[in-house]
Amino acid sequence: MSESTVRIGLVLPDVMGTYGDGGNALVLRQRLRLRGYDAEVVEITLGDPVPDSLDIYTLGGAEDSAQRLATRHLQRYPGLQQAAAKGAPVLAICAAIQVLGQWYETSSGERVDGVGMIDVTTSPQPKRAIGEVTTAPMLTGLTAALTGFENHRGGTKLGGDATGLAKVTRGIGNGVGDGLEGVVQGSVIGTYMHGPALARNPELADLLLSRALGVTELAPLPMPEVEQLRRERLRA
Ligand code: GLN
Repeated sequence: MSESTVRIGLVLPDVMGTYGDGGNALVLRQRLRLRGYDAEVVEITLGDPVPDSLDIYTLGGAEDSAQRLATRHLQRYPGLQQAAAKGAPVLAICAAIQVLGQWYETSSGERVDGVGMIDVTTSPQPKRAIGEVTTAPMLTGLTAALTGFENHRGGTKLGGDATGLAKVTRGIGNGVGDGLEGVVQGSVIGTYMHGPALARNPELADLLLSRALGVTELAPLPMPEVEQLRRERLRA
């Protein structure tokens, strides 16, 4: 690994890896390599402190019990919080939104203090949200519909410091009646979309990468298979 290698932190895949969201780190790495950058995925497990020196971070979804372990670890080793405060992009999927928030209630009704990086709170909803979700992005820099697969019981309410990532056009999203999906606050972007999200939404992948690299534009990467999958998902 050289000085110029872009380092992608895959945070706690041992506990936050249930839904295949580790694929987001692979997508980031591949899109960098195809453009000629050196890029590596750095896995941070429960056995490691969390470094604050990586260029970009991603965390995946998990079951309630696993997300509690992750919460405790991130509170004990605040490298992610420090990196985000310095501007490193963080992509949080599903349970990771809940973990990075102020607090969340598990399906059994127990309230757990979150990491406090984003101004959101999460409570279980009467019905689990499962299925395809499609949204219209609200974040500047995104123009294409976002698509993914959601599977969560928690409903996430945004506080005053957080904004939605997108408006739901199909599916449930954050699930508290405001029609929003995901969250944006500072350098953190959260979404309930599995898929993995970045394989299905290359524009979001490139937005994160351009922020990590500090560039305004990246060379286009035409991928007909991805475009076809997107068309199918939007039609389905
Ligand atoms: N355990 C959380 C919930 O059900 C998150 C699930 C997930 O990450 N898919 O809301």
